[in-house]
This record gives sequence, structure tokens and C-alpha cells, in this order.
Amino acid sequence: MARIYIGMGSNLAAPEEQLRSAIEALAQLPASQLLSVSGFYQSDSLLPGQPRYTNAVAALDSDLQPLVLLDALQAIENQQGRERNERWGPRTLDLDILLFGDRLIDEPRLKVPHYHMQARPFVLYPLAELAPAELQLADGRTLQELLAACPFVGLERLP
Ligand code: ATP
Ligand code: MG
Ligand code: MG
Repeated sequence: MARIYIGMGSNLAAPEEQLRSAIEALAQLPASQLLSVSGFYQSDSLLPGQPRYTNAVAALDSDLQPLVLLDALQAIENQQGRERNERWGPRTLDLDILLFGDRLIDEPRLKVPHYHMQARPFVLYPLAELAPAELQLADGRTLQELLAACPFVGLERLP
């Protein structure tokens, strides 16, 4: 059993609805229990000229193996109409594995912790609603330290 944090994002086709559907799908994952979901945030797109994103983070406990979980998350993305064109292009749904317990995973299809989470306010601030500030990444840095180095910029918490 591992405590897993999943980053969610959408900037197409009613993003808040997309996240709500994704949360329902996460709650149905086998051998897993959805524990909590952060509030919803809006963030500027990483690439200019795209609609703003809606983001959130979910916490779950799961007995699934990491690649099995990745397959399940990609199936949910596909079910919600994810098309894979340009890198960082607009999307109906993105589900990224941020942390998988304290595991360090370096496989062609899966790198955990997520390689860019420490630089992304739209990941760290919702994560901080669910995870303890003392949470440590594999390199020993705490969530609190990552937050201190990542200003709350371009981000808005939705009511
Ligand atoms: P970014 O990774 O910068 O957030 P992205 O989420 O838009 O970009 P995707 O198109 O969703 O990228 O995924 C590309 C590939 O990344 C996936 O096919 C998957 O195999 C791989 N990948 C590697 N590590 C992870 C992870 N921690 N969570 C989800 N996918 C991952
Ligand atoms: Mg992503
Ligand atoms: Mg992704």
C-alpha cells in the first residue's frame, strides 16, 4: 500500500467538469481508496496563447503497481477525450503521478517524483492542502522548502 498524489489539469471542454469526472474515475480505481482532493485552482498555461488551466491534486492509497496505475490514469485521460499532439498542448485532462509513497521510479514511461513538480505552483499549492509540510521528496527536500522557493504567481484558488 502506498500513499499516492496525483496532479490533475484541464484547459479544454469545461475544465471543472473534466476534473470532477476524473475524481469520480479515481474513486473507482481497483485496489485503491481515494482519500481527499484539494480545492480547484486556475493557473496560467506553461505555453502562451492557451486557455488558463484548472488544476487540483488528489491523494489516494493504492496497492496497484506504479505502471499499472499509470495505465489506468492514461485510460481515464483517453476516456475523457485526451488527444496527444504537440507537447504541452491544450488538453481535456492530464493526470500525472507526483509521488508514489517514498519510491524513486526511473523507467522510460514513468519518472517519480514528477520531474517538474518542484517548479510548478499549480502542483505544490494544491498538494500542500493534502500533504504534511514535512513531507520529504527523495532528495530530502521538504514540501515546505519547495513551497518557499516557488512563489504563488499566476495562480488563483477558486472558491
Ligand atoms: P509534463 O510531464 O511536463 O507535465 P504532460 O503531462 O503534458 O507534460 P503527457 O503528454 O501527459 O505529458 O505525458 C507524456 C508521457 O510522460 C506519458 O506517456 C508517460 O509515459 C510519461 N510520464 C513520465 N513520468 C510520468 C509521471 N510521473 N506521471 C505521468 N506520466 C509520466
Ligand atoms: Mg503534466
Ligand atoms: Mg501528463
